[in-house]
Amino acid sequence: LINEMSLSFPSKSSNEAFARSAVSAFVIGLDPTVAELSDIKTAVSEAVTNCIVHGYRRESGTVYINGKIYENNKVVIKIRDKGCGIADIEKAMEPLFTTAPEEDRAGLGFAVMQSFCDKVKVKSTVGKGTAVTLEK
Ligand code: ATP
Ligand code: MG
Repeated sequence: LINEMSLSFPSKSSNEAFARSAVSAFVIGLDPTVAELSDIKTAVSEAVTNCIVHGYRRESGTVYINGKIYENNKVVIKIRDKGCGIADIEKAMEPLFTTAPEEDRAGLGFAVMQSFCDKVKVKSTVGKGTAVTLEK
């Protein structure tokens, strides 16, 4: 492990931009290409948005991000909420599946994370929350 960071913030949509910038600043030392940096920012943005709009749909709460950089330049970013959780993760990750179509959600957040990262892991417990781990 070369470097690590943790941050947390309230589930306000204005903090999506903060999360993108903070993760971007954390990985910039690796000298990523513009494309790599943009991929990470986009994936983090999708995961953070999900915590805010889905996880904390009923009440506001705290979003947690942990970032790690390993010797082989691998980046692992974990985005976590203590919100409502996901009942069927496999279904939730299917492209175009959304529980909020009336809010013009496309159901593409997980698909975007998967196409922009090397690995996406999701752990969730109904009533306890969700953790998404992104590897790049
Ligand atoms: P889009 O991301 O395109 O705006 P979306 O958020 O509905 O639409 P995904 O990001 O792929 O699509 O998520 C699919 C579904 O998984 C969501 O509609 C929601 O039901 C569930 N989900 C995702 N993240 C969480 C979370 N952190 N907490 C609770 N449910 C979640
Ligand atoms: Mg989404």
